[in-house]
Amino acid sequence: MKRISSRAFMILLMTVAFFAGLAYHSVNLIAHTAEWIETPSNDHLPAHGRLQYAGKILDRNNVVLAQSVEGKRCYNTDEETRKACVHIVGDDSVNIATAVQTVYRSKLTSFRFTGSFLFGLGMPDSMKKIDDIQIMGNDFRLTIDSRLQKIALQALGDYKGAMFFYNYKTGEILCMVSTPTYDPQNVPEDINENAAYDGAYLNRALSASYPPGSTFKLVTANAAISSIPNITASTYVCPGTETVGGESVSCYQHLSHGLLDMKEALAKSCNIYFGKLALAIGRDTMTHFADQMGFNQHFEFDGIETADSTYDVSAANDNQLAWSGVGQYTVLETPVNMAMISAAIANGGTPVKPYFVDTINELSQHTPTLCQQMLEKSTADTLREMMEYTAMTYPALDNHFRICAKTGTAEISDDGSVAHAWLTGFLVDEDCPIAFSVLLERVNSGSTEAILAANPVLQALSEYYGK
Ligand SMILES: [Zn+2]
Repeated sequence: MKRISSRAFMILLMTVAFFAGLAYHSVNLIAHTAEWIETPSNDHLPAHGRLQYAGKILDRNNVVLAQSVEGKRCYNTDEETRKACVHIVGDDSVNIATAVQTVYRSKLTSFRFTGSFLFGLGMPDSMKKIDDIQIMGNDFRLTIDSRLQKIALQALGDYKGAMFFYNYKTGEILCMVSTPTYDPQNVPEDINENAAYDGAYLNRALSASYPPGSTFKLVTANAAISSIPNITASTYVCPGTETVGGESVSCYQHLSHGLLDMKEALAKSCNIYFGKLALAIGRDTMTHFADQMGFNQHFEFDGIETADSTYDVSAANDNQLAWSGVGQYTVLETPVNMAMISAAIANGGTPVKPYFVDTINELSQHTPTLCQQMLEKSTADTLREMMEYTAMTYPALDNHFRICAKTGTAEISDDGSVAHAWLTGFLVDEDCPIAFSVLLERVNSGSTEAILAANPVLQALSEYYGK
């Protein structure tokens, strides 16, 4: 037997060690590619493009919202469309927590290798071949319509706020816009200092909650109908101001609403009527029904967690309990939850879960999913009738569709001059079953402003999706 020389043994040992190390690193790289790419501190990729191999992001009509071209991430060619979609698409950073390019970055940038490796020691150079390999990310198609996005952004104007429109039968989000916004292709240098960009990374439709004002009367009405027999028929004469729970509750400008049943009280948005109802219902029952309608919890969809809507009257006195019934006191609600309440009323009591990721590489990601039931079908039908009657009292509201709606004005200044303006509702239309919420922060002119902001989107819906 020939003895292996110690020199040859050393070479063998080093060779084995080299290939073991190579194998270890290869396996490690493949197994952890996703994490490696997601790590914000990873400097191995060129500075301008950790998304350089990411797949395309398309809207529902295959309009390109983002794609990678020659190692650079490019967004839609139209600046307004880019600004309208940034909270859904994201930018090159991971600052927008709810955006596709943040939540799905791993999937978006997952390497799909095509082609073949051929290599080997001693193999002629001509046979070593790695040149036909392509690295591609996964393509996403979303449910949103970029035309509606742009129209909604323009309708929000200079207001901070949010718009949320979704199909209450399928769950597809057609339009979700948040302001202030910015251009992901040219991120402003002063975005972190300039007050005009306050909360620009926040998708206000999902991640912010506000006092809901009179839109909350839908929750109080459900609690009353469900817990007090024949309550819709009982009547009340509103004096404009009344002592409820030891202190006063007043209606708009302290004006009397006269004789009301529940339907009239909702249409005229009588605070005293609903304040007294909340007191009659009691804090435990009010809390029970608020919980059922999505309060004190968050929703999850598309890998996103929404902010909580909150209703907590555990420390409220009787007067504060009354104010909670009209969406004041400490009540807070997200725009998405408000749209889902309207969706539940439209849908016989149970909302469909919203979503915006439609397909990944053409493979469908969703079937309509029901959330927990928010209210009884009979109550939903009653509220639907009341909301349709209420919508008829809004002369400014677009009338292309049969529409059910409720406004809200949540006062945030002591003199009532500054308020958040809300509109929520749904379309009664087989071809366009849309539920929505609109929120404008800090308006001076009341809820009409929210109606005017919703109108262009409703009009565009009738043009694109109506008969
Ligand atoms: Zn009143």
